Amino acid sequence: MNSQDTHSKPSPAEALTRMSLSSLQDTLSNRRHSRDFAFARGDFLRNRVMVVGAVFLVLLPLWSVIDWFALPADSTKMALAARLVMFAVLALTLLLAQRSKARLQLARFTAGLLLATPAVFYAVVMSTVTTGQAETVSLAGYSFIPYMLVAMLAIFPFTLVESSVLGGAIILLEAWALYATGVLFSLSGLQAIWLLAALLVIALTSNYFQLALMMRLYREATHDPLTGLLNRGALVQSMEQYALHAPDAGRCLLVMDLDHFKRINDTHGHAFGDDILRHFSGILRRSLRPADLACRYGGEEFVAILMDIDKEAAMAVAEDIRTQTEASILHNYDGQAVRYTVSIGVASLHHDETFQQAAMRADHRLYEAKKSSRNRVVGV
Ligand code: GH3
Ligand code: MG
Ligand code: MG
Repeated sequence: MNSQDTHSKPSPAEALTRMSLSSLQDTLSNRRHSRDFAFARGDFLRNRVMVVGAVFLVLLPLWSVIDWFALPADSTKMALAARLVMFAVLALTLLLAQRSKARLQLARFTAGLLLATPAVFYAVVMSTVTTGQAETVSLAGYSFIPYMLVAMLAIFPFTLVESSVLGGAIILLEAWALYATGVLFSLSGLQAIWLLAALLVIALTSNYFQLALMMRLYREATHDPLTGLLNRGALVQSMEQYALHAPDAGRCLLVMDLDHFKRINDTHGHAFGDDILRHFSGILRRSLRPADLACRYGGEEFVAILMDIDKEAAMAVAEDIRTQTEASILHNYDGQAVRYTVSIGVASLHHDETFQQAAMRADHRLYEAKKSSRNRVVGV
């Protein structure tokens, strides 16, 4: 018996159901999103806000020309004033979006602002329009604002909850506008609401596939396929983002290297070596807290970043990982018991240094551990 789980594998149908349920939960809200993915989604949102906002800014002056021809003379001044306000809010949205790099909340806020600006404009126009002027509104292109906004939801990597709230608000706004112009309960009024609801379902479907695909690609690009831990590139990128947003938080680094791994491979085969790498990643996962980061840095070398922790506590975590590893017994493909050990170098990340500098210090300590008989933790 080898070291792998002996659980029976799920059938393809079960696996598919589990996968679909899991991606539905992942796309429903951001509760299950990792911090790194939240950063990445924030950046995707930000890019889209910048592009769509820039297009709006170019189109706005053109739309004012249409206002001029389509609206009655007494309304053009007010429409122009509203357009100017919209222009200012959109410019502010773009400015905020530019500053929202790696800040999901701000990126989300700018996306909301981008959609709310035309919606508020529409509400203002509709509140001044009297029954019978509906055709004028339609001519000036205002009546398509709600449809455009609901369709636009599909452009952004929103979660289903985010899109439903925004889409629901737009539908309510349109229902109110139709009510104000006295057509809500007519055939055309109900048809308008029905069409908006259908568009919202299409937008939600697009959000689902967009977010699920983005997550899969993100996972594949940032995680090591053998162990499921973060890969080196993703760790370095995360550390840059943490350095930007929480430069003073206490963080410690553990650099870990399995001892005599080449010998294990040579004696028990490469496939069993892979089992050990997976086994060690399990120990790492169980020993860290959810906010910590665990990474397969390369080969049989691992790095963990412990958040909000002092050096003594980090040394205790490292010692715990070392003893758990030492105590593990795995069985190779011939049923033979195999043990393995790990050497660990620990360093705390000073606020005035880069991740690479701290990693180099931890690496020197790992080297000391290797020199002094291995299976050791070396800190200060
Ligand atoms: P030390 O105690 O000094 O670290 O010795 P070591 O043998 O662990 O170090 P060395 O750098 O000589 O060998 C590392 C080995 O890790 C060599 C390589 O074949 C093996 N290795 C790297 N990546 C993988 C992998 O993905 N799977 C397996 N099975 N082995 C790997
Ligand atoms: Mg090694
Ligand atoms: Mg090594």
